[in-house]
Amino acid sequence: MPICPLCNRPMLPDRVISLAGIQEKEVSWRCERDDVHVGAVHPVQISHLKIGREEDAAGRRTRIIKLEMEGAELLVFRQGLEPSNRREATDA
Ligand SMILES: [Zn+2]
Repeated sequence: MPICPLCNRPMLPDRVISLAGIQEKEVSWRCERDDVHVGAVHPVQISHLKIGREEDAAGRRTRIIKLEMEGAELLVFRQGLEPSNRREATDA
């Protein structure tokens, strides 16, 4: 389970898929507090990904804030850029 790079808390599964031979594989996670999403992709995609890059995902503007290898997968951390959805971390 990935740790949110902003609040250092474990991130919750956002989407779980079940395929033949793959039971309830977690493919993405989220931190509601920081509006951060993580998706697992094939490492070959790292050539297209760069920290700080902004892109539109599902109609929202996001920025890549972290890339991390996890086993054979590459975890891509993206934060939403819309201020209305962003909250400051108040409780320590
Ligand atoms: Zn967080």
